Amino acid sequence: MSKKRIIYEGKAKILYEGPEPGTLIQYFKDDATAFNAQKRAVLDGKGVLNNRISEFMMTRLSAVGIPTHFIRRLNMREQLVKKVDIIPLEVVVRNVAAGTLSKRLGIEEGQVLPRPMVEFYLKDDALGDPLVTEEHIAAFGWATAQEYEDLISLSLRVNDFMSGLFAAVGIRLVDFKLEFGRYYEGDNEIPRILLADEISPDSCRLWDFETGDKLDKDRFRRDLGGVTEAYAEVARRLGILKESGETDNVVSFNGGK
Ligand code: ADP
Ligand code: UDP
Repeated sequence: MSKKRIIYEGKAKILYEGPEPGTLIQYFKDDATAFNAQKRAVLDGKGVLNNRISEFMMTRLSAVGIPTHFIRRLNMREQLVKKVDIIPLEVVVRNVAAGTLSKRLGIEEGQVLPRPMVEFYLKDDALGDPLVTEEHIAAFGWATAQEYEDLISLSLRVNDFMSGLFAAVGIRLVDFKLEFGRYYEGDNEIPRILLADEISPDSCRLWDFETGDKLDKDRFRRDLGGVTEAYAEVARRLGILKESGETDNVVSFNGGK
C-alpha cells in the first residue's frame, strides 16, 4: 500500500495525495457497503477487480471523447487520477426499471424504459442521498445551468457507449451511477467537467442477457452470494481477466459463476 498522505477515506476507496500537484491516488479497498453503510462486508479481491474494470471503462470512454479524471493505473489496487472538485451530485442513468425506481414508482423490475432516464441525487450520506430536481440544483447552486446540461449530455453519451460495450459481451446495462468534478486548468476561470470516481459493478446494475443473472452489487445487497465471482465474470467477458480466471499476476479466483 502507498505510504503517501491520506486525503480522504471513503466506504470503498482511499484517496492519497498524488506525486504531482493536481493529482490523487485512488486506492480500491475490498470493503463493500450497502443501504447507506448499514450493511458491510469485506469481499476478497473486489478492489483489485474494480480498479481494473474502472480503468478499462475510463480508458475507453476517453478514447471516444468523454473527458475523465483517469491518468493511469499504478498497481493492483491503485490508479493515478486528476484531482477534481467533486460536484455534489450522483447522476444515475437507467435503461431498465430496478432498485429505487421500481420501489418508488411501483414499476416492475425488469421493465425496459421507453427511453434512458437521467436522475440526480444529492451526495449526502447523512440525508441518505436524496433525489433532487433541476430546480433544487439551480436554487442551491450545486451546478450551474450549463453544468447541468453538460452532466446530462455526458451521462447519456456514457450510457450509449457502455450499453453497446456490455451488450457485445452478453450483458445488459440496467442502470449506473456517475460522479463528475470540476478541473481547473491553467488560468481558465471556467473549469472543465471531468468524469470522476469509478465505473464498476459496485456502481452499475449488470444483468446477463440470456439468464438474467445479476453480475453486480445487488448480489451483495440481496445476499445472493458469489459477489466477487460475478465481478470476475464481468472482467473476464470484457477481456480483462484471462479465461482461466487469472489475470497477469493480479488475482485469482476459483472458477467463474
Ligand atoms: P464514499 O465517499 O461514498 O464513501 P468512496 O469510498 O468511493 O465513496 O470514496 C471515494 C471518494 O472520492 C468519493 O467521495 C468521490 O466523490 C471522490 N472522488 C472520486 N474521484 C475523485 C477525484 N478525481 N478527485 C477528487 N475526489 C474524487
Ligand atoms: N448507485 C451507486 N451508489 C449509490 C446509489 C446508487 O453506485 O450511492 C448505483 C446503483 O448501483 C445502481 C444505480 O446507481 O446501479 C441506481 O441505484 P438505485 O437508485 O436503484 O439505488 P440502490 O438500489 O442502489 O439503492
